[in-house]
Amino acid sequence: MRKVYLDYSATTPVKEEVVQEMIPYFTQQFGNPSSLYTLGLEAKAALDKARGQVADLINADPKEVFFTGCGSEADNWALMGVANALKDKGNHIITTKIEHHAMLHTCEFLEKNGYDVTYLDVEADGTVKPETLESAITDKTILISVMFVNNEVGTVEPIKELAAIAKKHKILFHTDAVQALANVPIDVKELGIDLMSMSAHKIYGPKGVGAMFMRKGLRLPNFIHGGAQEMGRRAGTENLAGIVGFGKAAELAKANFDNHVKHCEELRNYLVERVTGEIKDTFVNGSMEHRHPGNANITFKYIEGESILLLLDYKGISVSTGSACSSKSLKPSHVLEALGVPVEMIHGTVRFTVGDFTTKEDIDYVVDSLKEVVEKLRMLSPVNEEKGW
Ligand SMILES: *Cc1c(COP(=O)(O)O)cnc(C)c1O
Repeated sequence: MRKVYLDYSATTPVKEEVVQEMIPYFTQQFGNPSSLYTLGLEAKAALDKARGQVADLINADPKEVFFTGCGSEADNWALMGVANALKDKGNHIITTKIEHHAMLHTCEFLEKNGYDVTYLDVEADGTVKPETLESAITDKTILISVMFVNNEVGTVEPIKELAAIAKKHKILFHTDAVQALANVPIDVKELGIDLMSMSAHKIYGPKGVGAMFMRKGLRLPNFIHGGAQEMGRRAGTENLAGIVGFGKAAELAKANFDNHVKHCEELRNYLVERVTGEIKDTFVNGSMEHRHPGNANITFKYIEGESILLLLDYKGISVSTGSACSSKSLKPSHVLEALGVPVEMIHGTVRFTVGDFTTKEDIDYVVDSLKEVVEKLRMLSPVNEEKGW
């Protein structure tokens, strides 16, 4: 049976070149980067090289990149670190209704500990209006955090404008760039970002390694306490093989950026055109203009996204409903809710995300399968256009 993976926003396969780069660091080059003999110094050199590769992808100085255990850790660190460091200055944090759970659940934790969090509304296309942000600022605001690219609908936020507002009010600006990295151009200096979260496994690197960009001159309190790793800012013996893989993935992403974006956009647009053209009562959620190149988030009226997912899985196709984290719960997606999609339509929504290994034949197979699956489910559905919801 054909296998088609269209869930690149959940995680990506690790590229062969990345795996090859990592392998020696499990075996011959197993040294601890903190050790002072040659084996350790070699490990330290590999660590520095990877730091440079990640820094290069976002136009940062290598000294501004700190490796973490995952993207979620970087999100937690940004929020908890700023909340802690600036608690005498204020207790107000501004974020959005469409953040990843790594942000939202950390905000909820902070709310239980005396912080006030404003969750900004978004427009129907998923973007945050700069005026909406500016009007939420108070003299107690210590952090503004808006994700760079949304993981469900792929909307790219106007980060430069939003960061400029933060700067004007002398407030720190953080962005969760896990979905943005390697998919949209990121220049942290040009954009005016203070703190930024990244992850390797969404850019063809390994799982279990992330990074934080922390602008020069900023020093958040540590989140993981212990040894002096990561220039004293993040303790724990480094996941060297993982970090080396992240570095290689970042290097490849930079070299292939234009091709990657073009390839994804072409296939994504082809998928959207075929699905919305050939299957009636379907629509795309989120901005088509400011969008992740590989993301298609599509609602199929009158049926359940979960059922579509399962029937596609029988055909060897992997897609998701909402984010991977919410896919095990029946709670409607908080992102689609924020976009104003009616609840019954949220339940009929599927996220397709294409990537470097997707082919046109894959898309044809998926669309042909979808036509069959959707027709079958609609026949069984108790609701439809005539019957109403
Ligand atoms: C995947 C993801 C994360 C979490 O990254 P992990 O490395 O899996 O912890 C955070 N934010 C967004 C937007 C993501 O897509």
